[in-house]
Amino acid sequence: MTFESMGLIEPLQKALAKADYKNPTPIQEKTIPAALAGQDVLGCAQTGTGKTAAFALPTLDYLGRDSIPKKPRQPLVLVLAPTRELAIQISQSFEKYGQNLKFRKALIYGGVSQHKQVSAIRRGAHVLIATPGRLVDLINQKHVSLSDIEVFILDEADRMMDMGFLPQLQRIIDLLPRERQSLFFSATMPPKIRDLAKRLLFNPKTINVTPKTPSVEGIDQQIYLLSNKQKLPMLKDLLARDSVDRAIVFTRTKRGANTLGEKLEAAGIPATAIHGNKSQAARQRALEAFRKNKIKVLVATDVASRGIDIDGVTHVFNYDMPMEPESYVHRIGRTGRAGAEGVAISFCTYEDRQMLREIERLVKMELTIVYGEFDESRNRNKSNSSSRKPGQRRRSRRPSGKNTSPKPARRHTSGSASGRRKKSGPKKAARKQSSRQGSAV
Ligand code: AMP
Repeated sequence: MTFESMGLIEPLQKALAKADYKNPTPIQEKTIPAALAGQDVLGCAQTGTGKTAAFALPTLDYLGRDSIPKKPRQPLVLVLAPTRELAIQISQSFEKYGQNLKFRKALIYGGVSQHKQVSAIRRGAHVLIATPGRLVDLINQKHVSLSDIEVFILDEADRMMDMGFLPQLQRIIDLLPRERQSLFFSATMPPKIRDLAKRLLFNPKTINVTPKTPSVEGIDQQIYLLSNKQKLPMLKDLLARDSVDRAIVFTRTKRGANTLGEKLEAAGIPATAIHGNKSQAARQRALEAFRKNKIKVLVATDVASRGIDIDGVTHVFNYDMPMEPESYVHRIGRTGRAGAEGVAISFCTYEDRQMLREIERLVKMELTIVYGEFDESRNRNKSNSSSRKPGQRRRSRRPSGKNTSPKPARRHTSGSASGRRKKSGPKKAARKQSSRQGSAV
């Protein structure tokens, strides 16, 4: 299937050609035709699969096909995202794909003054991209009405729940018109998310592009077994390598991210920390500096990293192992994007060994240990010993000696809604709108 055979309008195809998108990704192949036909979609997909275009393209097709006038305070399309960074990236994607179309969008998120955001909504926007907290604030202040929403898109629903946005989400859902199209995306589908989807969607096309074994293809995954004390010198050593162009380093806590960022800076490695306690302006500055290659290293926590869509990240370092195996996949997915190759290096202490096993179970492969080995008898990591316990899994490790530079990486080869009534779908809705109002966008 091609973008052309999907029947997307010419201006979108031009923009896709300019972005050098040759073929739709699997989620796009499945989502776009269903969404164009007006069907609800339940998509289980993680970042990096091309899901933003999967929902942005049919939405823009709908807006571009019929000229629908914008109305002050009453958007037609609502996109909800859990974080400001993700909301900004979605907005940039709409801009990129819709560059040959006349449509207006407004972007709203918390942590900054609402003044400009309110002005944009008052001027009228076809597409409103929002984080839940700020949206509810502006609804309460009567700056936004959801009464005209025809397409509702919920992105990263699981992360939204994790971040405690369920009450806001429920409030927003209650305000949506019953006649609408909904596109629902989540990286994981725990029971709570399934329940929410059931409430929200009408006979959805269910799309699952997250294979049981999450795809980490093209990412060279390496494990370093070391103690907490060894982490910082090892990280500095690795970051100094020529092959490391742009790296994201994950820590478990916000404090850990700050401290590590400062230590790297002190060691002459340009680095900035990004996490939920930083001001919006500081987070944006850090991301821009990283995107523009002014800083080589971004130190991040899991929540802050979600939605960072920066191509060309050559390395991801798990300075601290994640708390859940799924986070590992999300973290390392920051590298190896859009078919590029990437390296993911995880520092694993003796205490992390259970998590390592869980991760290996999830990705269904044994990860290559390129440095160190566990000394089970002494309950700690033994980086430079040559002994291996009988029956212990084969692990590669660097040769002993003072030089901490690890061996070159070896590629691993293994490898209903209650009382819902029928929706009209965007096309039908568009026809309805344009016959009602008919002026140019
Ligand atoms: P997403 O999953 O939406 O965050 O997209 C991940 C990355 O894939 C982004 O950098 C997109 O620009 C890129 N991308 C999305 N769709 C395509 C496509 N059909 N061909 C090539 N790259 C794409």
